Amino acid sequence: MSSRTRHAARTHVGRVRSQNEDAHLENPDTGLYLVADGMGGHAAGEVASGIAADTLGSRLDSLPPDADSAADELSEAIREANSRILREAAEDPAREGMGTTVTALLTLRDGRSVVGHVGDSRAYRLRDGEFLRITRDHTWVQEQVERGGLTPEAARLHSASGVLTRALGVEADVEPDLIREEWREGDLYLLCSDGLTGMVPDRRIAELLRNGEDLEERADALVELANREGGRDNVTVVLVAPGEG
Ligand code: CA
Repeated sequence: MSSRTRHAARTHVGRVRSQNEDAHLENPDTGLYLVADGMGGHAAGEVASGIAADTLGSRLDSLPPDADSAADELSEAIREANSRILREAAEDPAREGMGTTVTALLTLRDGRSVVGHVGDSRAYRLRDGEFLRITRDHTWVQEQVERGGLTPEAARLHSASGVLTRALGVEADVEPDLIREEWREGDLYLLCSDGLTGMVPDRRIAELLRNGEDLEERADALVELANREGGRDNVTVVLVAPGEG
């Protein structure tokens, strides 16, 4: 039995910030789903995350034929978004220093998928009840975790948890992580900004996703949970249940 890809997305300003600088995109026709978390004053953050979403959306305007070209195109699109952000920041002093994360999932109909990733937004996959993080945060605290200096939970709560080691809009070129995946019927992907993962431990996100059925309800519930736990940042979630159609 084959099913169609289903998705649900929510974004919320949170309970503290006055502006939402996150962006997201869902396109079942091209198989592209993404979250971008912008930074920079004077509303420049939302400009940067918007450029990332627009650039990836317009460059990846048709379903790639195979995983190799999907990875190449995703990488090129992320690099082009980086260049555009730098260019627009150079042209307008109010936008100087703007930047963004981007975590993009490209699902192909042949059961493959590719994740392109820069920054500390995340992609997870729930499969047969097992909740797996498939991206690695480009943060200073993540480096400390890998060196054994911090536990993941201490890193999550650390005052420097937001310090990025890689982002779009910082240097002339950017190297995205490209993660190749094979999806199965019944898998559920979560893309999210750190407004979710900074507020809620992975274990509770997993519980919530395992115990729901409806994608829209689960997307609502994730945002509610982030806000109940403090809502200190903008929160964006994109859920994707891949299918063949
Ligand atoms: Ca954020």
